[in-house]
Amino acid sequence: METKEINVKSCLVKSKLSDYVINPYLGCQHGCKYCYATFMKRFQNVKGAWGEFCYARVNCPELLAKELDRAKPGHIWMSSVTDAYQPLEGKYRLTRRILEVLANHPRKDEFSIEILTKSALIRRDFDLIKRLNAEIGCSINTLDAKTARIIEPFGSPPSERVGVLKDAKKEGIKVYGFISPVIPGITKLEEIFRELGFCEYVWVELLNTKPDVMARLMPVIRENFPDAVDKIEFYVSNPELYYKEMEMEVRRLEKKYRLPVKDIVVH
Ligand code: SF4
Repeated sequence: METKEINVKSCLVKSKLSDYVINPYLGCQHGCKYCYATFMKRFQNVKGAWGEFCYARVNCPELLAKELDRAKPGHIWMSSVTDAYQPLEGKYRLTRRILEVLANHPRKDEFSIEILTKSALIRRDFDLIKRLNAEIGCSINTLDAKTARIIEPFGSPPSERVGVLKDAKKEGIKVYGFISPVIPGITKLEEIFRELGFCEYVWVELLNTKPDVMARLMPVIRENFPDAVDKIEFYVSNPELYYKEMEMEVRRLEKKYRLPVKDIVVH
């Protein structure tokens, strides 16, 4: 794993996905096989494979303090192309320092914060998250620890992510589930809906089937989940059918488990 410290020009970045995004790291140690943030490499001229490099944007907290002074109020999403609680955060504490800046800023009530992670390390920062207008989510696409270990090798096991959300809820933090990505033949939607019934709501995100994503994912699927290959290939060739079937199933489960679905994200 190649790691290094870098300085960036901005921390709080305007985005089409949310009013603002904050990505304290470039790259992601979680190395999920279906990750579509790999396109970041192109912009940053990074040579290593996705999951094998992670650069800490060490000046983010200082930049944010100044940026918040002049930013318009809005919603901040952490993080769109990395995980703010990947292992390196244990050493650098950049996310914690960013949350400290937000929590101590005089305009903090003008911003809402959303943190999405696959790591139980987020527990460390519950004290700060409680001081903010914040909600947290965990991405889950399987409840099976073995499967998760193969397709998202360095995230916390799914049961720990569910535990994080339950503990956060007990602490009075708003929580949601991010069922992503739904991988045909692997993701058992009903099981996950049942497990996440205590959340405020869930998002459902369908698999991104762009060629570069599939080129990383399919060899792993062929080697470890041969029964899922035909299903995935069928849906890749019939994306509208995939969407229609998923939508019907998601709406059925939404009613059955009375768990609101904020949206079904399609790429
Ligand atoms: S945690 Fe998110 S950003 Fe990191 S590799 Fe996995 S999908 Fe990509």
